[in-house]
Amino acid sequence: MEEIKTMGLVIREQSVGEADKLLTVLTPEYGKLLVTGKGVQSLRSRHMTSAQLFSYSNFVFKKSKKYFYIADSDMEECFFNIRYDIEKLSLAGYMCDVACDLALENVSDPELLRLMLNTLYALANKKHLDIELIRAAFEFRAACQAGFTPILEECGICGTEVGSYDILFDVMNGHPRCVKCQSLIKKDGLDPDGTAEITVKITPTVIAALRFIESSQVSKYLSFSLPPDELAILSHFAETYLISHLEHSFTSLKYYKNIKINGITYE
Ligand SMILES: [Zn+2]
Repeated sequence: MEEIKTMGLVIREQSVGEADKLLTVLTPEYGKLLVTGKGVQSLRSRHMTSAQLFSYSNFVFKKSKKYFYIADSDMEECFFNIRYDIEKLSLAGYMCDVACDLALENVSDPELLRLMLNTLYALANKKHLDIELIRAAFEFRAACQAGFTPILEECGICGTEVGSYDILFDVMNGHPRCVKCQSLIKKDGLDPDGTAEITVKITPTVIAALRFIESSQVSKYLSFSLPPDELAILSHFAETYLISHLEHSFTSLKYYKNIKINGITYE
């Protein structure tokens, strides 16, 4: 019988019947794995805590027919504080959806797991960090790790160094445009393939923040701060950048933004 021993983070959970769950677990060696948890919704199950969303555990999975199932588990971290705060909870849910989208089955991606663990830890424990800074940095870093790293130092058309004035950033082509190239560009608002171009105006401070997020060690990538107006620009840019490159948005992102703006509403 096939058996896997691995650390893993639960990034999606679906109830199956009264007591079971179907889980998506992000692992360092095997990418995302679909795993069944027999009876894990029962209080009597010894895998109940390991089989919860955001739990990071040492697992033993065994294969039976189509799916792996949890044969053994030992929970290491559950980022408990996230569950006390509806904004954090909804952001963590969105981050898990992004990870689920980026991870491939049976393709090793330890960097994505490390990004998730570091970001969930910050969300749970670093009270001084602005939640929007965490979201924006995560979105941009996740896009870069997924292979969408843009040019950040120079105009993507003429190569002039940028960084001392506000510029337009060409999202889909992944580079800034200097003022001169911007003035020469045709004004039909279309990319060469005929699709509508996506541009975001960003500042030198935001460019510097993007460079930091992209290039620092994953354990340090949230160690920066921005004034509120610059953070709002970073936030808009990072969301536009990730969502445009993934070519779809997420219901969980809409939910997080609704909670952030309106708080909890009861219908
Ligand atoms: Zn230029």
